[in-house]
Amino acid sequence: MTAVPSATSATQAASLRVLSGDEQARVELAESLRLLGAGDVRFGRHDRMLYATDASIFQVEPIGVVVLNGVQAAERVVRFCAERGLPLLPRGGGTSLAGQCVNFAVMLDFGAHCRRVIDINEVAMTATVEPGVTLDQLNAALAPKGLFFGPDVATSSHATIGGMIGNNSAGARSIIYGRTVENLISLDVLLPDGTPARLEEGSCERDPRQRDMVTRLAAIVLPLREEIRRRVPNIKRHVDGYNVDLLLDQLEGCTPGTFDKVNLATLVCGSEGTLAVVVRATVKIVRKPSCTGLAILGFDSVPAALAPLGKMLACGPSAVELVDDVVIDTALANNEYRHYVEVLPQPASGKLGAVMYVEFQAESMDAVRAGFDRLRAALPDAPMQRHEDAKTLANAWKLRKAGEPLLHGVPGDRKPVTFVEDTAVDPVKLSAFVDEFRAIVASHGTKAAYYAHASVGCLHIRPLVQIHDAAGRAEMVSIATKVADLVQKYGGALSGEHGDGRVRTPLLDRVLGATLCEAFRQVKAVFDPEGRMNPGNLVDVGNPNAIVERLRVKPGAQDIPVPDTNTFFHYDHEHGFDAAVEACNGAGLCRRVQPGGTMCPSYRATLDERHATRGRGNALRLAITGQFGSPGTSDWHDPQTKATLDLCLSCKACKSECPSNVDISKLKAEFAAQGFAKAGRIPWRTRVIGRVRQGSRMGSRLWPLANLALGFGPIRRALLGALGFHTDRTLPTYGPAVHRWLARRGSKAATGAPTVLLFPDCFSNFGETDLGRLAVELLEAFGYRVVMPDVGCCGRSLISVGMLAEACGTVSRTATALLEAVKRENAVAVLGLEPSCVSAIKDDWIDLRTAVDRDALRALAARTFLVEEFLEAQWDRHPTRPTVPAASDEPVILHAHCHQKALWGAQTSAGLLRRLVGDRLRVLDSGCCGLAGSFGYAEHRHDLSMRIGELSVFPPIRACPDAVVAAPGTSCRHQIHHATGAEPMHPVAMAARILLTPSAATMRTP
Ligand SMILES: Cc1cc2nc3c(=O)[nH]c(=O)nc-3n(C[C@H](O)[C@H](O)[C@H](O)COP(=O)(O)OP(=O)(O)OC[C@H]3O[C@@H](n4cnc5c(N)ncnc54)[C@H](O)[C@@H]3O)c2cc1C
Ligand code: SF4
Ligand code: SF4
Repeated sequence: MTAVPSATSATQAASLRVLSGDEQARVELAESLRLLGAGDVRFGRHDRMLYATDASIFQVEPIGVVVLNGVQAAERVVRFCAERGLPLLPRGGGTSLAGQCVNFAVMLDFGAHCRRVIDINEVAMTATVEPGVTLDQLNAALAPKGLFFGPDVATSSHATIGGMIGNNSAGARSIIYGRTVENLISLDVLLPDGTPARLEEGSCERDPRQRDMVTRLAAIVLPLREEIRRRVPNIKRHVDGYNVDLLLDQLEGCTPGTFDKVNLATLVCGSEGTLAVVVRATVKIVRKPSCTGLAILGFDSVPAALAPLGKMLACGPSAVELVDDVVIDTALANNEYRHYVEVLPQPASGKLGAVMYVEFQAESMDAVRAGFDRLRAALPDAPMQRHEDAKTLANAWKLRKAGEPLLHGVPGDRKPVTFVEDTAVDPVKLSAFVDEFRAIVASHGTKAAYYAHASVGCLHIRPLVQIHDAAGRAEMVSIATKVADLVQKYGGALSGEHGDGRVRTPLLDRVLGATLCEAFRQVKAVFDPEGRMNPGNLVDVGNPNAIVERLRVKPGAQDIPVPDTNTFFHYDHEHGFDAAVEACNGAGLCRRVQPGGTMCPSYRATLDERHATRGRGNALRLAITGQFGSPGTSDWHDPQTKATLDLCLSCKACKSECPSNVDISKLKAEFAAQGFAKAGRIPWRTRVIGRVRQGSRMGSRLWPLANLALGFGPIRRALLGALGFHTDRTLPTYGPAVHRWLARRGSKAATGAPTVLLFPDCFSNFGETDLGRLAVELLEAFGYRVVMPDVGCCGRSLISVGMLAEACGTVSRTATALLEAVKRENAVAVLGLEPSCVSAIKDDWIDLRTAVDRDALRALAARTFLVEEFLEAQWDRHPTRPTVPAASDEPVILHAHCHQKALWGAQTSAGLLRRLVGDRLRVLDSGCCGLAGSFGYAEHRHDLSMRIGELSVFPPIRACPDAVVAAPGTSCRHQIHHATGAEPMHPVAMAARILLTPSAATMRTP
């Protein structure tokens, strides 16, 4: 271990200069920090700004970031900062909604490399973890033993245990499992001066430092017994301020003359990084109930739904959740969600005005059903549905989860803003409280969707406000102060789960009173006398206007709007370019790593904030609004932003998996295109890669010669090197163009057969020409006349590299030719083999500003399919159909292409294969293969490309060497072969071999 450089008077002076904004001093500080060997020291502007936001509305640039290389490293950094008087802020997933995870401080990122589950003790029913472990990760480790951690935050896939402790988090089932604080055994912490301490029951008796601390804490808390009992709400959900009520309970339970029952972990929990740094936690774990059922009840109004809440709670549910009329009406107006409302139980009045979800968990389904029966008996007249199986359960919850995303789609400048997000009151008062809350929001001429963890009286509300203008922000302050007063009137909590941070701390005195707020300051001083831990949070009360300071949209004195831009894409679907640029709300789902889904491959492989969708979304927003240089002027050339975008695979997973549909692939192309347009030039390598069509056409014309040349080692290496590609990669091979072959050969279809157009993509038309010909023959076997019009390029590679000006022209020509061909040939469908080309036609073409009518492009998209998708979808309607031979017993594995998964689902290839090979088909729940066109070819991305493939694609293929591998993506087939030696086939090639040569034994021989 490198010795910690101790603070000299010179370095302390440097710290002072850093605190006053001296950039050179910051560089010197970073150099000293690097000597600690504690991790990746990121003090550059770009990196700082990527950590300046969390999931809240705020933006505060940190002093710098240390991405810790392990928990042991934290002590060195904490001591280093203590010696220099620098503020500190620990961070987990950065999913906080109240702004408690942004500050002018040295930020300690625990989320990347402090993720070990250290111990699971089934006897003591405890788990010991590092703070960067996510809840899903912990639960995955516990699942084989039938155990889990009780507090079930909605952000379980990316929120960390450290962050849950910081915020004292809880989930929808807190009625049973409580908050995090109720599930804590002990914490290993670093006090702000770097001293390690284990906080647990009894440790104050053993550790003189803790004994001294608790003596001082007792002197603060015990005299305030009455005030604490009167002011701190006696409800299950309250996380305002420090847990002085729990400390008081512990002090009162101690053997006289001792502090044997005190556990200072209780105070650190919910302290939002203001008291100590957690480096290890031991938490309680519980047995997972085996059965779950959900009753849904429909009411005609919110008061009608909340009136019988007491009766519902008496039935012993695990959760009771409310959805209000605003969510219902907004869902009814939305094509995608209307269905979820229509299938809900309707009240006798015929107007559904509120829905209650009542969940029961038990050890047996009979016990769950008994819960349903109790509910039925308690509310004999309420229309009610019962859901028992996993699929209908998931569907039934959809409306409950749709509230906020739906409101984002409401037209106009007002958007749902998180600032009075999670108040909580005694559930018996919830109905009256909701009435008054709604009146406050309505009196400001706006609306909000209300959904509630009704079982614990916790409301989730995001009123629609125009945060971009001063009047909107004044409205926010007015609503927030009125809500704080309402909370005080009802004896509730300003925050029932998300914490105080920057948005509620200023109002704490209105709810808890000046005396308790002064006590909070004194409690903090016991732990952190210099006030360096996440300064301001939980203690700077009394200035309601502070809730609209340091906003993302106005981090300093001026609003920072998105400049007007002549974009290459349309952004109507995103409600404008500015909305697209600001769409990422920082909630961080793109940081999930547990298996399932694709987003975000580069984050999954690097665990680096910078290489998550959120990092890219932030970088793009900051560069486009000019915040890396001149605010208000887009910087399309910012080299750091380009580097941040460089590891995006343009897989489109975020377009569908991000709840805000942040589409980095599109924005990345736009950013590059704007840069090229401003510079007036495009680097030659980019042009070569973007114009792959020309290269493929040429390769096909010269195919025997081209293959010889490209396969010849020195030429191959020279070409790969010149293009900046890794020399382990192979270059494509070519064959005689399939469209020419077909034109020469003519159709084999019967007269009058319906016509399909096969799109001549580069890969199957010029490269893997066997595949192109097989597709033609297969379609003919189903009775179609196949036409391959030489319409040109789909533009995929131009779009991927950001050559959008050229892509608009190319797509205009190709689309026009294709539309003409459809008309001329009276084609029933346009079919493609390569998913990334089909996705260009169905997705990108409609978005690009081409010369072609967009309705015509939409109509074209609607009749464009993958070949295998079309064959399966029309199975009973094809003119003819080959016989499906008896299946062999060879296993078949399907890895679907990222674009396919993002836009239409793996089913579009799996359907036909399942029909042909039945249960032998296993569809991998795989993410990206890592190659993604030219992405993984680049020398500097080769290793990452392979690491991405290793996450979920290669291992199951290696584990099943006898399987036939199907992969519709050309890149995927190359990458899988490159990494595993398998010989993947296109599903159409597989289908052709099964149906045209009905011998399963020949399937594996191309
Ligand atoms: C869409 C959405 C849904 C949400 N749903 C819920 C919900 O159901 N229930 C709920 O309770 N919350 C919810 N939250 C809020 C948030 O996700 C949780 O509070 C979560 O537990 C925070 O975890 P994190 O790792 O992101 O913490 P961070 O945001 O990184 O940190 C949270 C706080 O803990 C501190 N902290 C982090 N690590 C440490 C450490 N090692 N030592 C000391 N302090 C530390 C930080 O300084 C910060 O003050 C939701 C948020 C979003 C965006
Ligand atoms: S990119 Fe999407 S998933 Fe990621 S933080 Fe932003 S909004 Fe959330
Ligand atoms: S396109 Fe793919 S790699 Fe790029 S940010 Fe989105 S999910 Fe990540």
